[in-house]
Amino acid sequence: MEHIENDEQFQGLRVNKGTTEQPTVNPYLDNFKKYKRKNYTASEYVEGILKGNITILGQAVTLIESSKPEHQSVAQEVIEKCLPYTGNSVRIGITGVPGAGKSTSIDAFGMHILKGNDKLAVLAIDPSSEVTKGSILGDKTRMEKLSVEKDAFIRPSPSAGSLGGVARKTRETIILCEAAGFNRIIVETVGVGQSETAVHSMVDFFLLIQLAGTGDELQGIKRGIMEMADGIVINKADGTNIEKARLAQSHFQNALHLFPLPESGWAPQVLTYSGYYEIGIDEVLKMVDDYIAFVKQNGYFDRRRNEQSRYWMYETINEKLKSNFYNNEQVQKELKACEEQVLNSRISSFAAAGKVLDMYFKQI
Ligand code: GDP
Repeated sequence: MEHIENDEQFQGLRVNKGTTEQPTVNPYLDNFKKYKRKNYTASEYVEGILKGNITILGQAVTLIESSKPEHQSVAQEVIEKCLPYTGNSVRIGITGVPGAGKSTSIDAFGMHILKGNDKLAVLAIDPSSEVTKGSILGDKTRMEKLSVEKDAFIRPSPSAGSLGGVARKTRETIILCEAAGFNRIIVETVGVGQSETAVHSMVDFFLLIQLAGTGDELQGIKRGIMEMADGIVINKADGTNIEKARLAQSHFQNALHLFPLPESGWAPQVLTYSGYYEIGIDEVLKMVDDYIAFVKQNGYFDRRRNEQSRYWMYETINEKLKSNFYNNEQVQKELKACEEQVLNSRISSFAAAGKVLDMYFKQI
């Protein structure tokens, strides 16, 4: 039909005939939407995960990350049902300060790992994401080569909640990934704050990435983190930096000698490599394999995993108690009132804490 605006009386105005609307831009989009919209039952999730369906795996991880109680209950059921199919993997934790080369290295390590017919999941725990919303480790495109590999599953850090909560979600995601057939898991974290402890408590091997500096490499590294490391690697050992990297290597080796032998019985090694130029990658991965073989043989591998299960039981209890307490409406009211009284010095911090807790305990 001709548009009325094209009549002579409307001078200077013409409306062109449009094209008829296509049913959809992408013929597969409708199917995809239907697929996305479906609410799976826990058993359907599990079935998809066990078949290695990445889309369903991703959706199940989203459920884990959701704070909605109805999502949480399905997620917990999925986790329980997946548990019998897990455990059969090597879990590697990687930490280092921003700029140490974690993403470049994981890209390189990952591509080498995939050559051996393994399937790799890369997860992250980023304590900064809570504060900044955007996150240091959240960007999927950081691992350019891995991100297009079908045998790699890359998932940015869950962003909501406390570090404990974020870490628990990552720990649960490991379970789903293993059930989906991923037999290598890398958990990455930024070398700041408490997140290393969380990662250490969910991996078999903890790798610390360092850079060669100006001779004062050991400064700024918390002793605790060095003690946690099963291996220390100096990245960017390329070009004019090779000598400095070797020097840093001997510094770290000397420093490690001062620590007692870890419970694993394995003396942590220090290696140099270049993630960018892919020099020394095989050696780093061999170190991890050697360690795993060593601790499987002496029984430490199973002991550490059992210890971690216990740790997560208590962590989960602590976290749930805390959130139950702080989400309680009456507690919130009482806290507000008490806080004001504390700020006005009308009541001591301890008396105020006691008052709120007493009220909470009486209620439950
Ligand atoms: P992240 O913040 O720890 O994830 O570090 P990135 O992987 O983003 O690396 C930080 C910077 O260091 C980037 O500009 C990289 O290109 C560079 N880089 C990473 N690995 C190497 C390496 O082995 N050699 C050199 N020369 N540069 C590297």
